[in-house]
Amino acid sequence: MADKRDYYEVMGVQKGATDDEIKKAYRQLAKKYHPDLNPDNAEAEAKFKEVNEAYEVLSDKDKRARYDQFGHAGVDPNYGAGGGYGGSPFNQDIDFGDIFNSVFGGFGGFGGRRSANPNAPRRGADIETTVTISFDEAAKGCKKEISFNATVNCKECGGTGAKKGTSAKTCSTCRGTGQVTVNQRTPFGVVQTSRVCDTCRGTGKVIEHPCKVCGGQGRHKTTRKIEINIPAGVNNDQLLNVSGQGSTGINGGPAGDVRVYVNVRPHPIFERKGDDVWCELPLTYTQAALGAEVIVPTIDGKVSYAVHDGTQPGDIFKLKGKGIPHLNGKGRGDQYVKVTIDVPRNLSSKQKDLLKQFEAASSDKNYSKRKSFSDVIKSIFG
Ligand SMILES: [Zn+2]
Ligand SMILES: [Zn+2]
Repeated sequence: MADKRDYYEVMGVQKGATDDEIKKAYRQLAKKYHPDLNPDNAEAEAKFKEVNEAYEVLSDKDKRARYDQFGHAGVDPNYGAGGGYGGSPFNQDIDFGDIFNSVFGGFGGFGGRRSANPNAPRRGADIETTVTISFDEAAKGCKKEISFNATVNCKECGGTGAKKGTSAKTCSTCRGTGQVTVNQRTPFGVVQTSRVCDTCRGTGKVIEHPCKVCGGQGRHKTTRKIEINIPAGVNNDQLLNVSGQGSTGINGGPAGDVRVYVNVRPHPIFERKGDDVWCELPLTYTQAALGAEVIVPTIDGKVSYAVHDGTQPGDIFKLKGKGIPHLNGKGRGDQYVKVTIDVPRNLSSKQKDLLKQFEAASSDKNYSKRKSFSDVIKSIFG
């Protein structure tokens, strides 16, 4: 655990690498170590996991920034010492209510706006987090457990902040309003202003015996885990809103939401364009020239496809309905397969002889493109 490799080193990129460079490195490494391409290879499997973990962090703007600043401890709550809540850099919990509470005494004071009642219900904070899933999980849908820090009501005191068996008292200084009126003598006469009550810091209540668990706040941060359903067809950067699972509301207000940004890892072979899936199919030139029955990978598994004779590099064929399911649950995209020719290397002298014989027996009839190409050259250069 303590000797994790540097994520940039794992990906083989510089620290300042662009998103595209990281994506490209990931595709190459995923191809190299993918379990489908390395069956029963424990070392490849471990590498694949390590690469996925590194990509999960470096492809996410927030996580990458935290990693750059804090190292592994910035993105893994279990890394190194500590844990528990408070002061952790994980997940953004933008609880403006809480910020105002601590800075401005609960209400008022900010931009001159004042809440009529310090005990009015307020909505809990929304929480933003990300979930990283594989290309296949995005195509088929999945369930994922996510964890994040949320502010919740203290169970010990039921959110009142007062020790069990006691209760908060209405502040006698401000009579529960949270504000006091002050007369200020100025060169223009006496001006009456109101400010936040010092005694209760604007809450309108005084806790004589604070709860020991939450220190009288009535709320504290905790790590919450929930399982979310990720629908089939979800795309990279898509936002899933999980309503009511964010920070607990204040004074009985509704809970905030959890906003989950989906990060889809690129696939070593497939590329997604809208709901269509694209891939390349390398053929030998014998297969391309003679036609062949070939195996084509799809997100549903392998299918067999008859490539016709005279297939050219760059030819594209379509597998209808083999793409990503549409998010609305109706229908799917298509798969497009682009042919490339894998020109043979390291030929034996026997192979070379056979090809030379073939070349000697070929004519213009066999090469329509070459013929028109040489006609063009003749017309230009004579
Ligand atoms: Zn408490
Ligand atoms: Zn008061």
